[in-house]
Amino acid sequence: MRLSRFFLPILKENPREAEIVSHRLMLRAGMLKQQAAGSFSWLPLGKRVLDKVCAIIREEQNRSGAHEILMPTIQSADLWMESGRYEAYGKEMLRLQDRHERDMLYGPTNEEMVTDIFRAHVKSYKDLPLNLYHIQWKFRDEVRPRFGVMRSREFLMKDAYSFDLDFEGAKAAYNRMFVAYLRTFERMGLKAIPMRAETGPIGGDLSHEFIILAETGESAVFCDRHYLELPVPGEETDFSDDAAISGIVAQWTTPYAATDDMHDEGEWEKVGESDRLAARGIEVGHIFHFGQKYSEPMGAKVLGPDGKEHAVSMGSYGIGPSRLVAGIIEASHDENGIIWPRSVAPFDVALINMKAGDDACDGLCERLYGEMGRAGIDVLYDDTDQRAGGKFATADLIGLPYQIIVGPRGVAAGEVEIKNRATGERETVSPDSVIARLGVA
Ligand code: ATP
Ligand code: MG
Repeated sequence: MRLSRFFLPILKENPREAEIVSHRLMLRAGMLKQQAAGSFSWLPLGKRVLDKVCAIIREEQNRSGAHEILMPTIQSADLWMESGRYEAYGKEMLRLQDRHERDMLYGPTNEEMVTDIFRAHVKSYKDLPLNLYHIQWKFRDEVRPRFGVMRSREFLMKDAYSFDLDFEGAKAAYNRMFVAYLRTFERMGLKAIPMRAETGPIGGDLSHEFIILAETGESAVFCDRHYLELPVPGEETDFSDDAAISGIVAQWTTPYAATDDMHDEGEWEKVGESDRLAARGIEVGHIFHFGQKYSEPMGAKVLGPDGKEHAVSMGSYGIGPSRLVAGIIEASHDENGIIWPRSVAPFDVALINMKAGDDACDGLCERLYGEMGRAGIDVLYDDTDQRAGGKFATADLIGLPYQIIVGPRGVAAGEVEIKNRATGERETVSPDSVIARLGVA
């Protein structure tokens, strides 16, 4: 992409409304435009990151055996009356009416709708386990939308729903999602710690919030430092091996970790003093087993091996991709701007032409731009006539993993410079070795 043709509305000044660094940097880097309280448009740079985050989520959901669907944003109130949640949900739900004065709502979540899909099509235990997910916009009329896309009213959610014959099956489904989440966050360069969360009237211990540590986090959290070194399961993880998956979950739930609501001073005292990490955290995912809460009232039943009908045992599993984009920035930035992990970077490389209009610089940049494109490297080519200083500032602000700097002196000497955005390291290389140096994407 040529910067001269791209839509990248960089802000020179710090926007006053932004209280936290991710919100400030997202506005400054031209990723977002606020449209109303808690409502944002995603501009091209932001949309690229959001798509990459969703792609990782999708790959890991699919790997764990879940199937992607897409349900509508607008739902009929009737379904929610069946489950008994229509009144209970309260003011966070945006309620509307169509021209026939039928009650509708903008979905804050999809348990009812997915249960309706299930009961229409699945009749036998032989079709289980089943896990259906979608990535769809949600609306929640939050009391206090703030921090940009971190807590917005309209936000993107990946929500998955599992259906099993009994508790044992539901627990295995829960464990698969748990492990898929570990992999998902790790691939985005995040250390997410699963923390015991409230189960409410359902009881049991099958509810975890995945929390990334950040000073600006809204929850106070308490965990054992050992979490920071636990190995994350690799690509070879076999999701069909229930025992192995359950072993990983056991390893990741043994050290102490709890949010404020679930904090237990007695258990906390048992953690070695130097291992206690009391910090603030951002919830990026939440997994929850709720058994027959919806299947019972909504009649989602299957015929079991015993020839009897069973209301299925369910769980739901959320991740907030839009919140994650902000979370990744909270975890990875410096005073000059964002530092994207390569897996979610909007482009791999900023190619900086320090003297646009100079034949030698233009020539080499065009050559590199073409070669990198053919090698599958995503390049943002700064071909504008801005001053070099401004170009460097923009490149640092938008945080692409590498900068390739092409200036007249270097070109004359047969050299270009490669800067690693994360470490700040600069290296002088010959133009021919640029691609090998970056690695093929
Ligand atoms: P919170 O406690 O932060 O309000 P929640 O418990 O309401 O979150 P869930 O219903 O479990 O959230 O939703 C699943 C995921 O969706 C959350 O883990 C989070 O990543 C994301 N999410 C929830 N509310 C918002 C919001 N207002 N803005 C952005 N993302 C959100
Ligand atoms: Mg909430």
